[in-house]
Amino acid sequence: MLQALGYILYARLFLKKLIRPNAASSFMFAYGTALLVLLEYGDGASWPVLALPATCAFMSIFIALLCLRKGATEPVDKVEAIAFSADVWLTILWFGIAFGYGEIALYSAGFLLAGNVTTLTAFFPVLRSTWKTPEREQPLPWLVWTSAYIVLAVVTFLADRGQHPALMVYPVLSALLHGSVALMSLRGKARVLRWVDAARSIYIGRSEIHGKGMIAGRRFETGEPVWTLTGRPVFGAVTESGPNYIGLGPDVWIDPDLPLDHINHHCAPNAAFGPRRQLVALRPIEAHEEVTIDYSTTECDAAWAMRCDCGASDCRGMLYSIQHSFAHHEEPPAASPLMQLVWRHRRAAAAAASAFPQLPAPAPAERPAPITVSRERYEPAHVYARNHRLSPGASVRRRLLRSRRAAASRLAFRATGSA
Ligand SMILES: [Zn+2]
Repeated sequence: MLQALGYILYARLFLKKLIRPNAASSFMFAYGTALLVLLEYGDGASWPVLALPATCAFMSIFIALLCLRKGATEPVDKVEAIAFSADVWLTILWFGIAFGYGEIALYSAGFLLAGNVTTLTAFFPVLRSTWKTPEREQPLPWLVWTSAYIVLAVVTFLADRGQHPALMVYPVLSALLHGSVALMSLRGKARVLRWVDAARSIYIGRSEIHGKGMIAGRRFETGEPVWTLTGRPVFGAVTESGPNYIGLGPDVWIDPDLPLDHINHHCAPNAAFGPRRQLVALRPIEAHEEVTIDYSTTECDAAWAMRCDCGASDCRGMLYSIQHSFAHHEEPPAASPLMQLVWRHRRAAAAAASAFPQLPAPAPAERPAPITVSRERYEPAHVYARNHRLSPGASVRRRLLRSRRAAASRLAFRATGSA
């Protein structure tokens, strides 16, 4: 029960994009645990002891399917691949002995140890990644799992009374490993505190502009970093495929994590993205004021357009990408460091031409240019011919050219003649 609770927590965290598990790793872990169930069964474990790893296997498959649906398929770690192939070989060997000789009990303890080694080896990538970036995992499900394994260890000991010592390996080692992941994700209390602090400084709330929005929990001063943009990079996508995508450059977007996937547009925004993907306050933001950016300053997809009803006094009404929105302005918008960068590049007229092709502004709807027809183009041919008669200079030049050619051919003839 505890184990299932841990997995439900894990799945919820994944859906909330706070953690990023991987489909292939989950599948491999499920396979390894299922193999362990088989091996423990072979070693004479009772059903209460088997219940936990069985739940574990089922829930891992569930997480893997969830990952597949959400497209979280990252390449598999080498250690995991080796552990997985070892698992497969163990399965083949076990079935070979079980059906070939019919007598598995003799080897079962050895198999169980080997199965434990492979399944727990598959744990090392998680340990390593959690050591490197504790933010990848949340401590809560791991703490729940650790307590589940401690309970299992006690149950196993009570049920088995020390007859099969190999059965104790799995719960004890698992409790240790899960506990260490939990500790590592808790490591550096500062990180946890910073997260809690950050959770207070920004929250998701009802927006005056559109549905939900990103609301400041406290006052931010001008230039103060509000949040750091993180998320899954997306390349060469159509903007429509992810309405929350934030553009980083031509054909590069980021599918932002919470809470930035809720940030709304405002034509007079109070925040903008600065260096190192920092969302920075452009003016003092009061507590419980909505944090907004100008979508036109981050979107480079020339085909992108969005209707705006933000209520700003100078609301643009219709939003277009960077290239269109400000191309006809003399100065870059103050609200966009990215646009100021584009402007600087454009002034330099260097590499920017390829990086940010400046398209002409969308046709000004209010004042179309008056159509003027040049008179000369429509004059009859003879009038045109009279105005542009051959000049005497041209005929002189032509005669000079002809005499030069003749001289050259005479010279050539003489050269061949004397040879
Ligand atoms: Zn607007």
